[in-house]
Amino acid sequence: MENTGKMVICPNCGAEFDVSLIRCPYCDAGYAPAEEEEYMGQLEEIRKDLEGHKNDGDKALKKGLGTVARYVLVSAVVIALLLFAIMWITGSIEKSRADRRKEEFLLNQGVTMQQEDSTK
Ligand SMILES: [Zn+2]
Repeated sequence: MENTGKMVICPNCGAEFDVSLIRCPYCDAGYAPAEEEEYMGQLEEIRKDLEGHKNDGDKALKKGLGTVARYVLVSAVVIALLLFAIMWITGSIEKSRADRRKEEFLLNQGVTMQQEDSTK
């Protein structure tokens, strides 16, 4: 048995054994500093991995927000142009309608006047 000089006491049977052993050689209880270290190392890796993902997520979120902001801005400009175009077209139609009504009115008046004039 390799002796590192560090001994631990088995939490199960109380026997003393080398710290490098994964299990108690007497009762096979799973006291495992080496295993624990490995486990903690894995946890640390997972934690770092999660932090990395979190940072990636933040970056992705910021990038996403930037894209959304640009999209919203472009949409707003397009909508404003559309509204302007609709208002302009509607205004033109209304204006032409009004002009036509005015022309019709004047024409009717003119015809009526002409008729009145002709009758006189
Ligand atoms: Zn033991």
